[in-house]
Amino acid sequence: MFDVIIIGAGFAGAVMAERLASEQGRQVLVVERRSHIGGNCHDMRDENGILIHTYGPHLFHTDDADVWEYLSRFTEWDIYQHRVLAVIDGKKVPIPFNLDTLHEVFPESMAQRMEKALLESYAYNAKVPILQLKQSENKDLQYLADFVYEKIFLHYTEKQWGMKPEEIDGAVTARVPVFVGRDTRYFHDRFQGVPKRGYTKLFRKMLNHPSIKLMLNTSFHDIMSIRENRIFFLDQPFHGTVIYTGMIDELFDYELGELPYRSLRMSFETVEQESYQEAAVVNYPNNYAFTRITEFKKIHPADARCTTILKEYPQPYVKGENTPYYPIFTEEKRAMYAEYQEKAKNVPNLTLLGRLAEYRYYDMDDIVKAALEKAAER
Ligand code: FAD
Ligand code: UDP
Repeated sequence: MFDVIIIGAGFAGAVMAERLASEQGRQVLVVERRSHIGGNCHDMRDENGILIHTYGPHLFHTDDADVWEYLSRFTEWDIYQHRVLAVIDGKKVPIPFNLDTLHEVFPESMAQRMEKALLESYAYNAKVPILQLKQSENKDLQYLADFVYEKIFLHYTEKQWGMKPEEIDGAVTARVPVFVGRDTRYFHDRFQGVPKRGYTKLFRKMLNHPSIKLMLNTSFHDIMSIRENRIFFLDQPFHGTVIYTGMIDELFDYELGELPYRSLRMSFETVEQESYQEAAVVNYPNNYAFTRITEFKKIHPADARCTTILKEYPQPYVKGENTPYYPIFTEEKRAMYAEYQEKAKNVPNLTLLGRLAEYRYYDMDDIVKAALEKAAER
């Protein structure tokens, strides 16, 4: 009946389903545990008519023209360039920390010295990871690095990950480098925006194809199993392709142990004022138990007297209780993932794709690109 079964209706699953159905004429079943499509990119209007992102703020950005063009078949975009402020010493300053931030934070003579030292050490517009800047031998840069580390990274990372910046994979903090330039945007990619009518509508359009059937509120293990490297669907051997975008340890019943994740508690609040803060996202590295506040009207303007904000409270991930948002990479756990991957390779018609299945810190454009490439291989 189906040529392909796809587990998960996030970007990984939806792009694969769309490509395999419309490009290759396959009959596709998409199985999704949640009651909705879109994965973590799901959004919806709240009771005030404000478009909110259910699983935290999602800002689309890419340098890849093909990814942008592909998604543009399913949505128009609102031009949106993301800017983030961070509260340090009671002041809201732009991050990534850039040359302008220097002048807002330090006395002018000191800021000038630091700017000169930065420009002597790095190219204009260079992106310097904080852990790299901390290795600097220049005294002014050392002072700057210690300041940025302490005020922006240390306590935010301890909240977000329950670990210090040097204990987590360096690529994570390198996502927010010190920027030796004056561009105050959070992302510098060529294409940036948010879907005009939201992500969920984009997904609906992507999955709206006569050869795609969608099964919500259903988990892999409700209808499928893997026994002796063979996949069963409704207790019958399934010889078609299975694309799995969920957690790999769950797929194999945690046989080799649990892979660690970090979770978040999302706390939405309606505030009875037209505007709450100066930017869509304000980070609070050093205060409170939440990491950041998002105000959705600043991403999707809305005609409402009130405004909706979201506070994100990082939490340990507990199986069955909350959502696995971020893989926690350690060498030991990467090795465990590799063992699971080996098990998966023994199942010839199984493909792993996506943030969970590949245990990677993928942005939306990364996963769309990976799915487009994977679909083209078939
Ligand atoms: P998901 O979106 O997680 O989709 C996987 C789907 O599979 C889920 O719907 C899940 O319910 C389903 N599933 C899992 N297991 C099973 C099972 N066993 N049976 C049935 N269904 C199953 N990226 C950006 O580019 N910009 C941003 O601003 C941005 N902000 C983010 C903010 C937060 C708080 C987080 C956590 C992520 C953010 N991302 C952002 C990353 C973005 O969410 C991911 O790149 C994207 O969601 C990955 O898509 P995916 O399909 O791999 O995974
Ligand atoms: N980070 C930080 N302070 C900030 C912003 C980010 O310490 O004000 C660190 C933190 O470790 C975080 C990482 O940089 O997990 C990546 O930040 P990003 O904004 O990319 O996180 P995401 O939006 O993916 O949660």
